[in-house]
Amino acid sequence: MDPSPRAQRPTALVLSLGGTIAMAAQETGHGGVAPRLAAEDLVAAVPEIAEVAVLELRDFRKVPGAWLEIDDIAAVAKLLNEQAAAGTTGFVITQGTDTLEEVAYLLDLLYEGAAPVVVTGAMRNAQMAGADGPANLLAAVRTAVSTQARDMGVLVAFADELHAARHVQKTHSTSPSAFSSPGAGPIGHLVEGQPRFHFALGRSPHVALPLDRRASVEVLEATLGSEGAFLQAAKSLEGLVVAAFGAGHVPQTWAPQLGDLASRIPVVLTSRTGAGSVLTGTYDFGPGSETDLLGRGLINGGHMGPRKARLLLLALLRSGADQAAIQAAFAAHR
Ligand code: ASP
Repeated sequence: MDPSPRAQRPTALVLSLGGTIAMAAQETGHGGVAPRLAAEDLVAAVPEIAEVAVLELRDFRKVPGAWLEIDDIAAVAKLLNEQAAAGTTGFVITQGTDTLEEVAYLLDLLYEGAAPVVVTGAMRNAQMAGADGPANLLAAVRTAVSTQARDMGVLVAFADELHAARHVQKTHSTSPSAFSSPGAGPIGHLVEGQPRFHFALGRSPHVALPLDRRASVEVLEATLGSEGAFLQAAKSLEGLVVAAFGAGHVPQTWAPQLGDLASRIPVVLTSRTGAGSVLTGTYDFGPGSETDLLGRGLINGGHMGPRKARLLLLALLRSGADQAAIQAAFAAHR
């Protein structure tokens, strides 16, 4: 099929950050893959894209997902905000799946536009049988130019599913269907190549750029019988997220130390389970229960998982938010 005239096709900006979708082996190497392909190569593998949109391509970074930094993503968000204000119809970000859920969520916090932003990647590189990058890219472009996807913030398109950035997680290390939204489910699917949404999605509260302050925030996971050796190191942080057992519980020896930390820095209580919410008043077994920890000044992370709670706290601290604004932001996210 000939593409419709160029002027009738929407414009979309594709930003390539690297990851498996852009990985290939070096001819002289040992066979392992690394990011080598440009956005142009990714698009060239999917001729149907020309029927869907007129693309502008940018090789923004060429790194594995694990190498991306907060400053990289703040730079992407700044560009998206500028381009959305200038009238670009939609955006696609291709990147490594290892950090895709975090990048999507951080962009969701920082992005101000109404135009769709769709993040995707691949679990199988371009040289593998059944490479999933081309199908994911086509799905992402189709979603990025869909009017239904406007005003939903940042979405993830993967394996013919559409996920909200705030819910999506990488839940398998190798499967082509590695992404799911535990406790929520996908918000849509690609049906015969077209995005079909099951729900409308309201925007998440926003964090304003720039992120020019420095802040260090880490996640500390509660584990059976842990003596909490890392709690000492947490004294040098600007913020801490506790990935607690179940509905918000930690070993009892942790409780006074977390209370001490919470009197000096924001300490957010989340669940390590991957779905569901921290509770507020169900368990009252003393040190390390959720009632005890919230009473010691920990911030209720609600249903936010530890990684996303860390990004919210980090973005707030780096944008200069004070304690009251941090409390209010977490309350609004519950
Ligand atoms: N290691 C890769 C990355 O995140 C995994 C992937 O993209 O699927 O860069």
